[in-house]
Amino acid sequence: MPKRQEDYFMQETTEFIHSIPVDPLTGAVSVPIYQTSTFVQESPGVHKGYDYARSNNPTRSVLENLIAGLEKGARGLAFASGLAAIDAVLKLLKSGDEIIAVDDIYGGAFRLFEQVYKKFGVRVTYVDAGNPENIFNALNESTRLIWLETPSNPTLKIADIAAIAAIAKACSCLLCVDNTFASPALQKPIQLGADIVVHSATKYLGGHSDLIAGLIVTATEELGEKIRFYQNAAGAILGPFDSWLVIRGMETLSLRMKQHCSSAKHIAEFLQNQPEVDRVFYPGLSDHPNHSVAKRQSRGFGGIVSFTLKEDSLAEARRFVSSTELFKLAESLGGVKSLISHSAEMTHKTIPPEIRRAAGVHDSLIRLSVGLEDAEDLITDLRNSFDRLTVRTNKYSHRFENC
Ligand SMILES: *Cc1c(COP(=O)(O)O)cnc(C)c1O
Repeated sequence: MPKRQEDYFMQETTEFIHSIPVDPLTGAVSVPIYQTSTFVQESPGVHKGYDYARSNNPTRSVLENLIAGLEKGARGLAFASGLAAIDAVLKLLKSGDEIIAVDDIYGGAFRLFEQVYKKFGVRVTYVDAGNPENIFNALNESTRLIWLETPSNPTLKIADIAAIAAIAKACSCLLCVDNTFASPALQKPIQLGADIVVHSATKYLGGHSDLIAGLIVTATEELGEKIRFYQNAAGAILGPFDSWLVIRGMETLSLRMKQHCSSAKHIAEFLQNQPEVDRVFYPGLSDHPNHSVAKRQSRGFGGIVSFTLKEDSLAEARRFVSSTELFKLAESLGGVKSLISHSAEMTHKTIPPEIRRAAGVHDSLIRLSVGLEDAEDLITDLRNSFDRLTVRTNKYSHRFENC
């Protein structure tokens, strides 16, 4: 009998929980936090596998092995932030190399590409990765790396990882997938042919909006060793306490994602039926342009929903995001508490309006990170905010005039 999606989630929950080892030394069920900078050696160079905590720390090692296992890769590496992880991948490149990246890439990655790596001679071409042909057409002999983010931010575009992995293989380029929005509970890019996965563990993996962290997983040991060299050489490692917090968050990742997906779907359907809403962006809706690809390559559609208002103005969106009560107005995503943000005035503020709009980020685009509160409570919160919008206020005001 074919397994239901539900069964896969439960099987994964067991795997997630038991991937975290019991401490072999003491039997502690929680991973010990090795808050130390160095390790005593018996004689020079003779030690228990740890010599200095930038190179290696036992708490960080548990996290690195955990993410490698869950992403079905060979090697995991933990960094001080998602951007530090992305930076370590970019260090594989040299002057003259080129990257093809998704056009609605995370703003911080865009800044790193354009304002840091560009001056070292690395060029980036941005394409709509919704159609793999756009990647193929942008390739040239200098292309070394293809950079995907799927689902993307904030318009939830979906790229076909397997199709693009085939292009990357044929052209001997590396394929790196930023898997932050899906997490390994929903999508495993290495199984679909990617060479590298990066995460902002700040989001779903940590899951409680209480830390900043980044992770890398490589498909091969060899690639992992190359990036590990840069991790140690540049030193942007994740500390032991934050490593422990990510491990603790990941114990419940599978279960949390299941709830995020279910509530987000409800909310996306609710939004579709609101007269003030123009468009709803959610890969789980059957009218999403790449719904079938999303369905094929991931186990669920995630917890992020974006939408635009019919009155496409900064002021109207500002009014909406300032009036929700459960959805807290803040950047970031992936935590227990629901968050709301106005892309044009927050995450995409530094992008010139014409370029921002061309990438589909309209003035009224609002992004929701659907948390773990009761979905009905979240819908009530949104309904109340729609009631406060000018359009709806005007629509009902004549009734009161007639009283
Ligand atoms: C937040 C985020 C990053 C950057 O991660 P930090 O932990 O904030 O450095 C990278 N990619 C995506 C998709 C993100 O959402």
